[in-house]
Amino acid sequence: MHLVPTQDEVVGLLRRTGGLREGHFESPNGMHGNEYLQVALTMRYYQHAKMLSVGLSRLLRGNAEIRAMIPQLSIVAPATGGLPVAYGVCEALQAHQVYWSEKDDEHLPMRFRQFLEQAPGEKVLLVDDILRSGRKLSELKQLVESRGAEVVGIAVIVYQPTPQIVDFSPLPLFYLAKLDVQFYRDAASCEMCKRGVPLEKVWIG
Ligand SMILES: [Zn+2]
Repeated sequence: MHLVPTQDEVVGLLRRTGGLREGHFESPNGMHGNEYLQVALTMRYYQHAKMLSVGLSRLLRGNAEIRAMIPQLSIVAPATGGLPVAYGVCEALQAHQVYWSEKDDEHLPMRFRQFLEQAPGEKVLLVDDILRSGRKLSELKQLVESRGAEVVGIAVIVYQPTPQIVDFSPLPLFYLAKLDVQFYRDAASCEMCKRGVPLEKVWIG
């Protein structure tokens, strides 16, 4: 592995560890796809998790503006998939702190733990395992900014943009691998359904 793992190395690791699966999957939103990504399955192996986090931290250090902020930087995740990435990146960077947002229910707004307060002008790096539609990270960004902190960048292990992805520019985006997946809006438009490929339902989209 390279110090910053290459796209092929990351994809190979995801496949070997069950984080990236080939098949015919239906998401809770009804979309069908030919691959299913679940980075948490790769992050369960500590040494692999560490290697990915260190690789991501090296990309972050390569950005002069981020590098200058590291001692004051907060690493903030929309729990839970982002937590191992957040701790790994914080350890590798020797950044200031890690915390995360939570939702008691999918329909309730995101929030932080009680008594957690942002310092005025606090610099925040948003971290997650995957960036797909950006819905969660966008909600987290708004929450962080509503509390007087400043988001300075976004870092994820895998960038897998959907057609409806939130536009985060001009924030810098850091990722180790970019994946394209064939999505079908529903069963009626799905080529694999037409060919009769066995379907597996997944409960995390
Ligand atoms: Zn299908």
